[in-house]
Amino acid sequence: MNALNPSHPRRRFLKLGAAAGAIVLGHLLPIESLRAAEMPKLEESDPTAKALQYLSNAAQSKTRTSPDQFCHNCLQYEGAGGAEWGPCKIFPGKLVHADGWCAAYVKRA
Ligand code: SF4
Repeated sequence: MNALNPSHPRRRFLKLGAAAGAIVLGHLLPIESLRAAEMPKLEESDPTAKALQYLSNAAQSKTRTSPDQFCHNCLQYEGAGGAEWGPCKIFPGKLVHADGWCAAYVKRA
């Protein structure tokens, strides 16, 4: 029996093991946090970040209209409560700082 044959017992065993591992991991770690852990942090030098005046420290913003505006209380923020960094709908594939801010801020109700 050829080990490259998809029906080879060792290949089936490895496939089942990988599937079982993925299921266990999926239950231990929410998919969102797993994805977020793999994302790069948004750089302030990013062209879109610059256009929207994003800063990872909202307190340094000269254009923020209220001192209580932060990414962590913005409608676009998708980070977990208490996390330092989280995804934002405006910057897909990047993490923004929970205490950051940008001009696309919308207060979460
Ligand atoms: Fe932060 Fe909201 Fe701007 Fe995203 S849209 S960077 S969460 S202020």
